[in-house]
Amino acid sequence: MPRRIGLFGGTFDPPHVGHLVTAVNVRHALRLDVVVLMVANVPWQKERSRRITPAEDRYDLVEAAVADVDGLVAGRTEIDHGGASYTAETLRTLGEANPDAEFFTIVGDDAAAGFTTWDRYREVAERSSLVVVDRPGESVAVPAEFEWLRVEVPHLEVSSTDLRARFTDGRPLDYLITEPVLDVIRKRELYGAML
Ligand code: ATP
Ligand code: MG
Repeated sequence: MPRRIGLFGGTFDPPHVGHLVTAVNVRHALRLDVVVLMVANVPWQKERSRRITPAEDRYDLVEAAVADVDGLVAGRTEIDHGGASYTAETLRTLGEANPDAEFFTIVGDDAAAGFTTWDRYREVAERSSLVVVDRPGESVAVPAEFEWLRVEVPHLEVSSTDLRARFTDGRPLDYLITEPVLDVIRKRELYGAML
């Protein structure tokens, strides 16, 4: 039974090397037994602004991404729960299943900056230690009323938004996304990919 569990939530539309490098480095730095890349079912803060790839496809992409990586797993708690995804709820579910575990909620600084817009964010801070990593770009302030563990990871200027654009305009994907993930994308013809 893992005792120190990292919860790294995202839309992962698609998962890329920025996610993987972050997860393995935070796991190492904080001696976590496992980091769960938790796939949001309905990312309610994003769903109005763009079309989101079906959750089961995104889950399979994350599974492909972590298959060969020690200590990283794909999480489907939010998909199985259904509806909108809330980290507070997910921590409650994971805590019930792992009563002796200590939880770490991992976010990039862009996500950390918006922490107080999350549903029941105080509960998230009560149920877990908050971990933030810097992302390249403008540096953003994290809400000062909470204690943040800052972990240094290699700064990779990679985003799912940029990758989705690359799939359609034909720019290279090499070294930004891993081959097992690309295989699934090709097979399912996701992202209007011209691969
Ligand atoms: P999108 O461009 O669609 O928003 P994204 O690349 O930001 O996608 P998300 O699924 O939104 O990926 O992010 C999930 C989590 O991963 C967030 O906490 C985000 O800050 C973090 N993250 C994403 N990309 C990086 C990166 N390159 N380096 C560090 N953290 C990252
Ligand atoms: Mg994002």
